[in-house]
Amino acid sequence: MASSTTELIKSKLDIVDFLRGYLTLQPAGKNFKALCPFHHEKSGSFSISQERQRWHCFGCGLDGDIFGFVMKYENMEFGEALRFLAEKAGVELKHENPAEYRYTGLLYELNDQAKNFYRTCLAAAPIVKKYLEERGLTQETIDEFEIGWAPNEPEGLSMFLLNTGSSPQDLLQAGLSIKTERGLMLDRFRGRVMFPIHNHLGKVVGFTGRILPQFDTSNDPKATYVTAKYVNSPETPIFQKSKLLYGFWKSKDAIREAKSAVLVEGQMDFLMSYQSGARNVIASSGTALTSDHLRSIHRLADEVVLCFDSDAAGSDAAERAIDLAEANDFAVKVATFKDFKDAAEAAKSDPANVARTLAVAVSAPLFYFKKYLPTDMSQLQSRDGVIKLRGFFGKIKNMWRAV
Ligand SMILES: [Zn+2]
Repeated sequence: MASSTTELIKSKLDIVDFLRGYLTLQPAGKNFKALCPFHHEKSGSFSISQERQRWHCFGCGLDGDIFGFVMKYENMEFGEALRFLAEKAGVELKHENPAEYRYTGLLYELNDQAKNFYRTCLAAAPIVKKYLEERGLTQETIDEFEIGWAPNEPEGLSMFLLNTGSSPQDLLQAGLSIKTERGLMLDRFRGRVMFPIHNHLGKVVGFTGRILPQFDTSNDPKATYVTAKYVNSPETPIFQKSKLLYGFWKSKDAIREAKSAVLVEGQMDFLMSYQSGARNVIASSGTALTSDHLRSIHRLADEVVLCFDSDAAGSDAAERAIDLAEANDFAVKVATFKDFKDAAEAAKSDPANVARTLAVAVSAPLFYFKKYLPTDMSQLQSRDGVIKLRGFFGKIKNMWRAV
């Protein structure tokens, strides 16, 4: 049954018309060609056959049909691609779908219900709204990114979802509840501001919860337990941190337009930058930058501007990101806030700070110059100065090859 559904969808969606929404196609004989979105190239080796309704890349060797393209391009599982394409084709899906389709559908459903629950809780929690206001977020941003509040109760969300017909097993699989050693159901997120993580199509697939300062015990020596400042949803088939970029669903058009993506460290940096008008921004959520993240960006942009915390940890993270981005063929710039810790603080003080700082972002080699080269050459008389200089040459060694 599933195969006849996919055939029906394929008969309604012409692969050439469909791919025009993603790529710039050139006629080539009876086929079409384009720059391959799956590897970096300057001449088009990505070929599309209308006759066979398939694509093939002579550069990287990948090939497939419309389903294969969507799964690869949008980072989707088969069940997601099926739903996505069925909607586009106007084909109604019957219930005889694979178990996996039902399972991922369930995960989407639960995350969506949880998001709505947290939003309702935020609306009834003035103390949390005040906190978000103090951090600088407007109501419009809170609504647009569907920020919520997980009350500091053991089982608020769990009871809500169980009462609407979910099974305990479902809640555990979605990562919304945890099971205690005694077998009790407990909400994973308690006393936290909830940032839903949306996939690239705008569906909620997981959460990052930031502890409200009142409930943060991490600096309290008398605390009987230590709360983590941030808690993330666990990995599920629909939530893979190494692939998801926070805010990408909102900023991808601006990134495509600017051909440049501004990469910040956390949700608040993202939200405050976005709110300040820097719309081509993204954040890796709860994990370091990966090649998968960069591949998602590369389909839209060939430049990344790293805008990390201005402390030593942020500077080191920028170095790692430079190496990774250069290895993935990006032009890299680094933007540093001089008087502020991060983008969130800078934007809160004055929204214009973000654009101002991005405008003077420096190239990666110049970033290394500033970081490692002594301003006073007499420092090279000392061993420390020479070690620093050696660090500098080590850092830019790889760049000579790229130039
Ligand atoms: Zn290719």
